[in-house]
Amino acid sequence: RTVYLNGEYLPEHEAKVSIFDRAFLMADGVYEVTSVLGGKLIDFPGHAARLDRSLTELGMRNPVSTDELLEIHRELVRANDLDEGLIYLQITRGAPGDRDFVFPDPETTEPTIVLFTQSKPGLADSPSAKKGLHVISIADERWGRRDIKTVQLLYPSMGKMMAKKAGADDAWMVQDGFVTEGTSNNAYFIKGNRIVTRPRSYDILHGITRAAVLRFAAEAQMEVEERPFTVDEAKQADEAFITSASAFVTPVVRIDDTPVGDGTPGPKALRLREIYLEESLKAAI
Ligand code: PLP
Repeated sequence: RTVYLNGEYLPEHEAKVSIFDRAFLMADGVYEVTSVLGGKLIDFPGHAARLDRSLTELGMRNPVSTDELLEIHRELVRANDLDEGLIYLQITRGAPGDRDFVFPDPETTEPTIVLFTQSKPGLADSPSAKKGLHVISIADERWGRRDIKTVQLLYPSMGKMMAKKAGADDAWMVQDGFVTEGTSNNAYFIKGNRIVTRPRSYDILHGITRAAVLRFAAEAQMEVEERPFTVDEAKQADEAFITSASAFVTPVVRIDDTPVGDGTPGPKALRLREIYLEESLKAAI
């Protein structure tokens, strides 16, 4: 693979980062994942805008402009002949000379920027969308600024492992009795014509796919209600689903030991997936 590191396109084994990089020592970095379908970028402007927001919230500098970022994404798609897959982007506060809790002076420490591609043939036509996901509910033990997309992913990884151990596909996290989100996706249920999902706050990542799907709800003749909801409500719903840049809209068919609806992917979630894929392919760049 060709990867991008600090202004250079390199074979992956030649891309090296300092042991003093603050993402390595302190998870002091942010990331984005953008999907690629038919060699085109899905929701790129949304991901670029959220990246800038994450950086601003942490007082970090973006070493590249949005136009340059788009060009880097496109060059990696070309160089790796990527048809269907993901582009991972990470910006860290860089590598000062030594370990220190205090942020280094941004004048003397350059951020580290890395991008690489992951080929995922069949991403849009995924079997899990046809089969639906089994999620378990677990406590949300993450830090309090989940709206910032940091590389601190230890608890979400632990959540995925808990799911795996339980024979499930993923986990929904619960705080004070209400679902926050999935380990790497936003969570929803459908009752009647209404999509219910938690409102944006510090408690969840403001999903780019979430924003698009809520925009497209009207096209599917559905209403949106943004409010906290419980695991029990979702268990008793007609349908449930998750959204993310890599899963698009994927039905959830089982929560803990309870089937949702008839335990198969629901027509409304599948319709939302179809609309999302259609509309975002039209807008892909
Ligand atoms: N919530 C969390 C915790 C995530 O990690 C992600 C994606 O990685 C999402 C939600 C979905 O966000 P997006 O639709 O922008 O991929």
